[in-house]
Amino acid sequence: MKRNQRPAGWLIDVEGVLVRDKAYQPVEGSVDWLNGLARRGEPFVLVSNNTTHRPDELVAALRRIGYELGEEHLVGALGMGRQWLRERGRERILWLGEPALADFWREAGIDPTADRNCQAVVLGVNPALEVADLDRALDPLLEQGADLVCLHRNLFWLDQNGHRRLGPGAWAGCLEALGGGGSVVTVGKPDEKIYHAALKRIGIGPEEALFISDDPIADLVTAGRLGMRTAFVLSGKYPDHEVLGRLDQQDWPDLIGAAPADLEME
Ligand SMILES: [Mg+2]
Repeated sequence: MKRNQRPAGWLIDVEGVLVRDKAYQPVEGSVDWLNGLARRGEPFVLVSNNTTHRPDELVAALRRIGYELGEEHLVGALGMGRQWLRERGRERILWLGEPALADFWREAGIDPTADRNCQAVVLGVNPALEVADLDRALDPLLEQGADLVCLHRNLFWLDQNGHRRLGPGAWAGCLEALGGGGSVVTVGKPDEKIYHAALKRIGIGPEEALFISDDPIADLVTAGRLGMRTAFVLSGKYPDHEVLGRLDQQDWPDLIGAAPADLEME
């Protein structure tokens, strides 16, 4: 297959591809590009590690800036986390992510503030997280066998002002090093689970998919190893391809473009 052959389905990262960062300004050309896919009936799914917006709010925020899509187009780390916890009957968690999402967990029948007897410590992006909050995870992990569930393991994220902030991956590194008795799982990218869930959503196999992201390390390595074609866009985290120097050549993306609209597909 040619690198730039049109795929049967598109897997698309959100931040840095459709929107610039947490400020949710659209990437130039992306609104028309994505709406064009929708109009032509080309299957696509957004694969997002966003852990600060409820899935319905994330879709609403994208709709407000012109994207024509619905919740059926989103496979996100929060939803993956909810599914993982539900399938294992974890109803009491210590939620160390965005405090405003407490109701998201409650609506799923999960108590997000179960410090003392929690079954899982759950990490997501949290601009207000302090060391004292992490301290609350010590007893559950060390004495109660609580699982450590990482919605993703990005080491940093970009805030509204484009500043780098330490992310769940940094906190996960500390807490995992404790060596508690529970499982340590990641449900978002780069773990394979979310890629398989996204493919299933649009009913295609990995070799039929193209994954587009602004993060070749966290997003595209897994996609490529699963057999997908990959496209790295320079509209987000990395302004040039220097970052590829950190990857084995076999993990380099198949395509590189300034933004999704600039990827020339046949
Ligand atoms: Mg991104």
